Amino acid sequence: MNPCGNCNMCCKIPSVPELKKSVNIWCSFCSIGEGCKIYESRPSTCREYVCLWLTNGLEADLRPDKCKIIFEPFTDSIYLALCDVSRPDAWKSPIVMKIIAEIVRNGKAVIGKKNVFLPEHRNSDNVLFEFRQKAREIGFDSAILRA
Ligand code: SF4
Ligand code: SF4
Repeated sequence: MNPCGNCNMCCKIPSVPELKKSVNIWCSFCSIGEGCKIYESRPSTCREYVCLWLTNGLEADLRPDKCKIIFEPFTDSIYLALCDVSRPDAWKSPIVMKIIAEIVRNGKAVIGKKNVFLPEHRNSDNVLFEFRQKAREIGFDSAILRA
């Protein structure tokens, strides 16, 4: 487990429905690089948000504010690679490509803006079906993948 520190990228990239915050804009309650100004009363979307860097103890350079990608667990077998709008090519960096390859080696798919990275035994139709089903279920704001 890693600490969030002063990352804050989940206060920019994902939407926060309770606050009507759209994807890829900073939350008005975020003091960038410092933290949440309403930490004690922040909505449940924020309280429950986890990314791969936080839970899996990834290396320092993969903290989302540094690599500009949040790897977000989406289903049991899919991660989303959510890119900061200010760095649309961030996913091409060697360190990001390396972790994508590792996730795929571990049997999970990664869906990003333009690419779907698949483990050997899975095909894109099945993965995209699973993705769309879950997206419908939770009302996922897919604008985040078009950034
Ligand atoms: S993106 Fe991940 S590491 Fe960064 S603040 Fe959010 S949960 Fe923490
Ligand atoms: S309410 Fe706080 S934790 Fe939630 S997005 Fe805004 S600044 Fe971040």
